[in-house]
Amino acid sequence: MCGIVGYTGSKQAYPILIKGLQRLEYRGYDSAGVALMDGTIKLHKCKGKVADLQAHIGQDITIGSAGIGHTRWATHGEPNDVNAHPHVSMSGDITLIHNGIIENYDSIKKELMHRGYTFQSETDTEVLVNLIEEIKKNEKCNLAEAVRMSLNEIIGAYAIVVMSNSEPGTLVAAKKSSPLVIGIGADKDFYLASDATPIVEYTKNVVYLEDGEIAEIIPGKDLKLFTVKNKNVTPYIQELEMQLEQLEKSGYDHFMLKEIYEQPRSVQDSLRGRLRLSQGLVHLGGMADYEQAMLNANRIIFVACGTSWHAALVGEYLIEDLARIPVEVEYASEFRYRNPIITERDVVIAISQSGETADTLAALELAKSKGATILGICNVVGSTISRTTHGGSYTHAGPEIGVASTKAFTAQVAVLSLLALMLGQKKGSIERSKFNRLLHGLNEIPAKVEKALETNALVEIISEKFKDSSQLPLSWQRLLFPSRIGGGVEA
Ligand code: GLU
Repeated sequence: MCGIVGYTGSKQAYPILIKGLQRLEYRGYDSAGVALMDGTIKLHKCKGKVADLQAHIGQDITIGSAGIGHTRWATHGEPNDVNAHPHVSMSGDITLIHNGIIENYDSIKKELMHRGYTFQSETDTEVLVNLIEEIKKNEKCNLAEAVRMSLNEIIGAYAIVVMSNSEPGTLVAAKKSSPLVIGIGADKDFYLASDATPIVEYTKNVVYLEDGEIAEIIPGKDLKLFTVKNKNVTPYIQELEMQLEQLEKSGYDHFMLKEIYEQPRSVQDSLRGRLRLSQGLVHLGGMADYEQAMLNANRIIFVACGTSWHAALVGEYLIEDLARIPVEVEYASEFRYRNPIITERDVVIAISQSGETADTLAALELAKSKGATILGICNVVGSTISRTTHGGSYTHAGPEIGVASTKAFTAQVAVLSLLALMLGQKKGSIERSKFNRLLHGLNEIPAKVEKALETNALVEIISEKFKDSSQLPLSWQRLLFPSRIGGGVEA
C-alpha cells in the first residue's frame, strides 16, 4: 500500500501534490517523491517522509501545472532514494508512480534487459515504466495506448499514474486491486489520489476508477475512460458527501477499525504469488534457500514479542502438526537474557511487524552468533530485522497505524500457514489430498474474512446488550454453542 496523487490543470501542481501526500502519509512513509511537468519532467524524491522531501527540495524550482506524487510503502527493494517513486523510463521520456505489486516483474525485467534496458532501482515499478516505453517506441502509439497494451502483459495489483515528455499535461491512470479516485474540477482540471482525502477540498465531483479501467486525462477536455480490452466506458461521476475529517480515516471512526476492514485485502496480499493453486504448491521465495535447513533442523525457534508472539504460537501448532518439526516459541525479551542453548542445527525465526523490535533483534543476533540459521517474518521492507536475517518473508499487510495490531497479526498467521504447508509438503508429512484441501481453504480465507466483517452490525447490537454482563446468559449460550452446552438448567 502507498499513497499516490496527481494533478493537471491551470494551477501550480506542487502545493496540491505536497498537501495530498501529507494526507496520504498514513498509507506509506518509506520515501516520498514528486515529478513536475514544466516543458520536460523534473523529478524530486528521497527516502523518508513528506517533510524530508520538502526539506530535500528546499528552494529548488517547483514549477509545473501537471505532476504526480508518491509516498511509498516498499514491497520490492529497500526504502532508499533510488527506489523511491516516481520512476523514470530509461530514455527519460516516461515517468510513473505505482501502488501495488507487479508479480511477473522478474520475467519482464529479464526480457527488457535482453533488449538493452538497464535498471537503476530494485523495484517492480521500474520494470513497468520501461515496458510502457518499449511498447510506445515499438508501436509508435500515444501514451494511453502504450499503457493499455503494457497492462495486458502485467500480472498483479496496481494503481498507476503516468506522464510523458511527448504529451505535456496529459496524465494516464489505471487501476487493478489498488484504489484510485479522479476528481474533476470546475475548470476541467483533474485531481488524482489513492483516496478522496487530497481531492475533497478542490472538488466534490469524483470518479472511482474500476478494476481494469484506464483514464486518459487532458485538462480542458472530458475525462476519457476505456478498459484494458479497449472498450470505452462512460465515466460515472459521484458527489462526495463526506467531510474531510472523516475521509482522513477513509470514513472509519479510527484507524484500528479501518485496518480491521482492510483484512480481506491484506491477507490476500500476504498470499499473493505464494499460494499457487493451479500448480498445487506453496512458494515462499525468501525462505526457499533455507528449506533444507528447516526440514533438517533440531528445532525451529520463534522469537517475538507481543502480538507477533501470539502469531508464533499459531505457527507452532501448524508446523508441528503439518510438518512434524519440533517448534519452540520464545519471548524475545526473555530469550536474549537467559543464555539459551542454541546450536547450528537450530533455525531461529523472528516475527515482527515493524522489523525493528529491539528485543527480537537482539535475540536474533544472539542466535546468529551461535551459528543458527536466522530468518524473519516482517511487515516493513528493508527493516533492520529483514536486513539482519539470512532470509525471510514479508507479510505485505501495508502500514498499521492502530496500536492494537489487527491486520498485521492475520497477515503473520497467513504467512505462517504458508510456511507450515510448504514444509509439510516438502517433508511428505501431509497427504496430497489434505494438502490440496488446506491450500484451497487458505485461498478462501480473504473472502471468508470479508463475509465475517459483514456481521459487524449484529456484533454491535450483541455487544451493546451484554457489555455490562459478567457472563453470557445460558439461553444465549445454548443458542450460540448448542453442541457444547446441551440442555443445562439456567441458574
Ligand atoms: N511495489 C512498489 C515498490 O516496492 C510499490 C509499493 C507501494 O505500493 O508503495 O516500490
